[in-house]
Amino acid sequence: MVGEAVRKTFGPLAKPLDFLARQLEERLLIVQGFLHSDESPSMNLTLKRADTNGGDCLHVTVQPNPEGRRVVKRVLREMLRQTRRVGGVPLWPMLQLADPGRSFHSGGSFPMREKPGAFESDCLGRPQGWNRVHAVDATVLPSTPGTTITLSVMANAHRIGWETAALD
Ligand SMILES: Cc1cc2nc3c(=O)[nH]c(=O)nc-3n(C[C@H](O)[C@H](O)[C@H](O)COP(=O)(O)OP(=O)(O)OC[C@H]3O[C@@H](n4cnc5c(N)ncnc54)[C@H](O)[C@@H]3O)c2cc1C
Repeated sequence: MVGEAVRKTFGPLAKPLDFLARQLEERLLIVQGFLHSDESPSMNLTLKRADTNGGDCLHVTVQPNPEGRRVVKRVLREMLRQTRRVGGVPLWPMLQLADPGRSFHSGGSFPMREKPGAFESDCLGRPQGWNRVHAVDATVLPSTPGTTITLSVMANAHRIGWETAALD
């Protein structure tokens, strides 16, 4: 994977620089980062009902968010400032920003709100208009942090379970 990234960066120079690339590989460290959902692109899903000829079709459109690039630049600048303390230099040309929707931390399709509207859920994970159906996974997070989310998802599901049981 590292070798591939090196070859992509050096392009046609990669072959003659093979020795250097191998040396670099031994010193490279890949850093993977995640953005908060407020700084990430979002996706709009629209289900188009079938006409007489075909099946239903789910359309996905992207709403770009320029804030993401600004945050990444800020992080890179800070990493550069810390070069001596970290003992390494961030290689800007090797930066890769993933395509919208390409993440391991997705959620917030039916975000919890105190007063839910369409395509939102209440604080017990019930999508608007539903009384006995509770979503308890990442889909009800009001936003997704840049950090890992599984423990928050589990804690929220636990809370919804207890609070719902207390209602009965
Ligand atoms: C490669 C990778 C690495 C990750 N590493 C980390 C990590 O290190 N730390 C961390 O905190 N998080 C990590 N995550 C994120 C974490 O896995 C998810 O955030 C977490 O699993 C979300 O939990 P969830 O219950 O919301 O959804 P899921 O775990 O996706 O559960 C949803 C379930 O619903 C089922 N389902 C879907 N549709 C239907 C349907 N129509 N009918 C019935 N069942 C259905 C699915 O089969 C699935 O079992 C990682 C994710 C990936 C992909």
